[in-house]
Amino acid sequence: MRKKQDFSNKQVAIVGIGRNGSRLAELLLKLKINKLRLIDGDVLEKSDCGKQCPLFLKSKTLISKSNEAARILSDKYKQAEISYNTDNLNYINGERLLENCELICDCTDNWLSRNTINFLINKKNSKLKSKYWIYCGALKQIAMVSTLQRGKTPCWQCWNSSKEIDCQSCSVVGYDVKAGDKITKLVSEEVVRILKNKQPKFLFNLIVYNSEFNKLNLMKLESSARCELCKGKDNYFSKRNVQKKEKRISTLCGNNQYQITNGNLALDFNKLEKTIKKNNGKIVDNVAIFDIDKKSQAVVFSNARMLIRSFDSRQAEKINDTLMKIFKRGKGVAPL
Ligand SMILES: [Zn+2]
Repeated sequence: MRKKQDFSNKQVAIVGIGRNGSRLAELLLKLKINKLRLIDGDVLEKSDCGKQCPLFLKSKTLISKSNEAARILSDKYKQAEISYNTDNLNYINGERLLENCELICDCTDNWLSRNTINFLINKKNSKLKSKYWIYCGALKQIAMVSTLQRGKTPCWQCWNSSKEIDCQSCSVVGYDVKAGDKITKLVSEEVVRILKNKQPKFLFNLIVYNSEFNKLNLMKLESSARCELCKGKDNYFSKRNVQKKEKRISTLCGNNQYQITNGNLALDFNKLEKTIKKNNGKIVDNVAIFDIDKKSQAVVFSNARMLIRSFDSRQAEKINDTLMKIFKRGKGVAPL
């Protein structure tokens, strides 16, 4: 008699609960991989709740993606044990958020998140239990997957830019459902192999799927002698560098959407309730939302991270600075 699959103690993290991440979560639950940790600091937008993302078809906008996914999936899969986190994974919280996870699936859409996962796994004295991470991405008809193993395969930086770049994002260039379905299915099969302690299939290769021709191609990956992380010289996440980046701005998936972090600060929304209302804002699920004008909107999280939709990055920064001043005047800002 064949032994029943038992993944009961094995927790899988999915970073990024968008089009690919939400698909993958459901596939894993169907395969009886019940212990999931969903990590995403974003809120749902209109474009997330359409046909490309069936999980969120009936969801409201401007609520946390990871929280909403966990709610829907726990309801549908009673055996599931789903934890979630509404922070954006970063180099400070990363080891804590990924603690006790057997495996990490990267379904994010940006350079910084991928680079952070790569760094957390490969850095000296990494505290992560997972020695593997599965990288996947989908843009238009092209979708990709590769499995990376600490100390064995070329690291992600070896075959990607070592400088932060703005990636094209799926909500701007488009997402092909067929490509997304295929790639997340491949990821789920790889997850099963790894949890069963079988040899992963996608080590050392980038698997590229093109849905237009329904074709899979292999690209051999090689270590780079110039890779700063593999040389042990990567100082992207050094203390000094990070302090310099305390307030940092990056573009996110979405039209003219900017993310700005303001260092390790906590906003007290209870204290700030009146101030927020006075400045045309509202609080929904511990997130403050401001309509700046017809085209700009700011979503503020309790760790002083903001998502700002605006014309350009300079305007976004201006909005950020104005709001931070308002919060400080309202005496609702404290160190985290
Ligand atoms: Zn490397």
